[in-house]
Amino acid sequence: MSDVASANVAADTPAPEVVESPVDVVLAVDVGATFFQAGLVTARGALLDLSRAPIEANVGPESNYTALALTVTEMLERAASRHAVVVRSLGLTSGGHVSRGLDEVSPLSVPAWNNFPLRTRLEELSGLDVYGDLDAKALALAEGWLGAAQGQPNFCAITVSAGVSGGIILDGDLLDGESGYAGQIGHFIVEPGGRRCVCGTQGCLEAEASGQAIVAITGRPATESSYQIMQRTGDLVGRAAASMCNSFDLSLVVVGGSVALGFGSTFFHAAQVTLDELARQPYSRGARITPSRLGEQGPLVGAGAVGWRGLRRAARRRTQAPATQPPNAR
Ligand SMILES: [Zn+2]
Repeated sequence: MSDVASANVAADTPAPEVVESPVDVVLAVDVGATFFQAGLVTARGALLDLSRAPIEANVGPESNYTALALTVTEMLERAASRHAVVVRSLGLTSGGHVSRGLDEVSPLSVPAWNNFPLRTRLEELSGLDVYGDLDAKALALAEGWLGAAQGQPNFCAITVSAGVSGGIILDGDLLDGESGYAGQIGHFIVEPGGRRCVCGTQGCLEAEASGQAIVAITGRPATESSYQIMQRTGDLVGRAAASMCNSFDLSLVVVGGSVALGFGSTFFHAAQVTLDELARQPYSRGARITPSRLGEQGPLVGAGAVGWRGLRRAARRRTQAPATQPPNAR
């Protein structure tokens, strides 16, 4: 099948599946904690290539954008010249404060971007449809696609890095919510009367267990944490995980992020002990907490998943007549 033919077939195919071709890819773009990265992700989740640029902290918004744009342009060029693949869409992920679809982003890691119009800028640059989502929700998609929750219709993913965030897959679908923040677990109160959070309340998971919180509590980088801090962090994440399992009828929690993965078995053992203590409903008893399995590829596979999800949804919208759409269809 030629490239053109495969693209036409996919565009006309009824939802929910986009017809898969080995030459179709999504250009995956992630705004990370320390660098921007772009890669090519196939419909099977293989990462064919990637390019990275460090995020400079003390430069203006356009300098940051130029660094990101170079990685995107490089990947577009290599897609054609080196890999001979067809780029079907751009999947974009970021953390921090974002508007739905990442029309505007204010990532913690890029202080110069305050409501920066990233989706539009990348659409203009690439000429592709850009589908954006929060990085923790993208990790949930990726872990369900190829990682520790592969094939599981019900689980939540939590990232514990500089901040704490999460995403929920329920009945096989990623939950979005009113503003796109469903699963934002960072503001669960895990320590009533505890440390003041940026959100204004006290004892939020993010204010107690994030990398930034650990630095503030101990005066040292999270990578130099004591056994006690690793255990406490696991315990606190276990509390929030138990509430998720009890509320959403889940039996699996996948945890990624540099802090959690760096703390390793001490963190995960403590989290599991607390989860066992607090998830005691007949449906939540026995819930497991387990490390993300995608490692360094997680963010780009996640951004790729966001791009493929966007394509599937767009195809579904094209094949559904407005009159037959249920009231909640998007
Ligand atoms: Zn908070």
